[in-house]
Amino acid sequence: MKSSELRQSFLSFFESKQHQIVESSSLVPGNDPTLLFTNAGMVQFKDVFLGADKRPYTRATTSQRCVRAGGKHNDLENVGYTARHHTFFEMLGNFSFGDYFKEEAISFAWEFLTGVLGLPKDKLLVTVYAEDDEAFGIWKDQIGVPEDRIIRIGDNKGARYASDNFWAMGDTGPCGPCTEVFYDHGEHIWGGPPGTPEEDGDRFIEIWNVVFMQYNRSADGSMANLPKPSVDTGMGLERIAAILQGVHSNYEIDLFQNLIKASATAVGTEDFASQSLRVIADHIRSCSFMIVDGVVPSNEGRGYVLRRIIRRAVRHGNKLGQKQPFFHKLVEALDVEMGEAYPELRKLKDRVASILLKEEEQFAKTLDQGMRILEEAIANLGDSKTIPGETIFKLYDTFGFPADLTNDVAREAGLEIDEEGFEKAMDEQRARARSASNFTMDMSGSVDVDGQTEFTGYTYLEGQSPVEQILVD
Ligand code: ATP
Ligand code: MG
Ligand code: MG
Ligand code: MG
Repeated sequence: MKSSELRQSFLSFFESKQHQIVESSSLVPGNDPTLLFTNAGMVQFKDVFLGADKRPYTRATTSQRCVRAGGKHNDLENVGYTARHHTFFEMLGNFSFGDYFKEEAISFAWEFLTGVLGLPKDKLLVTVYAEDDEAFGIWKDQIGVPEDRIIRIGDNKGARYASDNFWAMGDTGPCGPCTEVFYDHGEHIWGGPPGTPEEDGDRFIEIWNVVFMQYNRSADGSMANLPKPSVDTGMGLERIAAILQGVHSNYEIDLFQNLIKASATAVGTEDFASQSLRVIADHIRSCSFMIVDGVVPSNEGRGYVLRRIIRRAVRHGNKLGQKQPFFHKLVEALDVEMGEAYPELRKLKDRVASILLKEEEQFAKTLDQGMRILEEAIANLGDSKTIPGETIFKLYDTFGFPADLTNDVAREAGLEIDEEGFEKAMDEQRARARSASNFTMDMSGSVDVDGQTEFTGYTYLEGQSPVEQILVD
């Protein structure tokens, strides 16, 4: 089943269960300054869950474009390393606004997976929130999942390992306990079930998260009950497509194989298994859709996330030997794969390509020289495994290397970066900027996207250091 058919099959299934099909919202959340990007299907319904907004329906279903490249949910560092993470992906979801709750939510999910899609039951296992006896009972008694395939997981604080069965959009807002469905891709793949030390492997891949939205968390951490218990679910389209297409990794599905081929052509390599090609194929999606939704490369906030991702992609192309702009060419291939489902992409593709090209040209001016400096610094490390803060800062300030890009190169070489040292150098820069602010100088630091102005180095907002945003969350 192709990804596009799968998307349609999901929406039709929930439509047959009286859900209203609702369009995907923008990647830039409409009225939510707490959130960098739409990172889940529930984001456009946040106020409905909170009771502050009313809709003419109490059941909805969507295929939502999402970006997880900053803030609470950040998968940028996973791209190229795991089989299941993208910076941009589509989340299929069904929602109940004070309508049905645990029982129907679980039955719908099971019916779709095993009935409509025909997934073998013995390849599925589920997790429930540790204290949620009700959800445990529904899976066991109503659905008939054997007890040893139902795993209790706490919230992160209580859980022994990384998994977390208490879902939250961000530090504040709607949240609640959840139950998740995992698919076992087979023992030939490394990894263990959730709740075990090997859970970060890719053998058991989470496909669907069903959240029982019950609380609203405030900034002080306190939790109030939502007006009505609700349901919010999310299933990664690419992950379920992989299962249906009989492949393990998301990067092996139809859509990604085509993007990887196009990337190989644009970069001029035949090494289709290259990690860099997976990264480039991933990044063209997030970058293009961010631009479609109105983000432009800049030095702060969303625009800086976009700039960081474009530069990462360009660096990976450069690593494969492509010194000329190539990234913008992939918009055409992306349009072939996704333009039908997303007419706004088709409409704006020329604009997207030209913004990418300008950013590529801009970075090309400093990339080679920056890489030489970084490679030299690595060669001179001696026994140390850490790239010094001053080097990271110099690359950042003079050569336009976002800290996460330097970190990406370092990681490939089995090295780390000195975050603290970088922070210190940034603080010193801030102090210099403050003392210089008596002059009528433009310290906004924004680099003209038209490429008219020379690259002059970065400035940044107080409390918004990129390393904080990139490496800590
Ligand atoms: P994981 O534990 O694998 O990182 P998650 O628990 O962070 O996933 P959720 O926040 O529960 O993911 O999101 C709901 C669903 O969206 C997941 O079950 C998965 O199918 C999909 N998903 C989440 N993150 C990504 C991603 N970075 N790329 C592709 N699909 C994703
Ligand atoms: Mg995750
Ligand atoms: Mg998870
Ligand atoms: Mg989850």
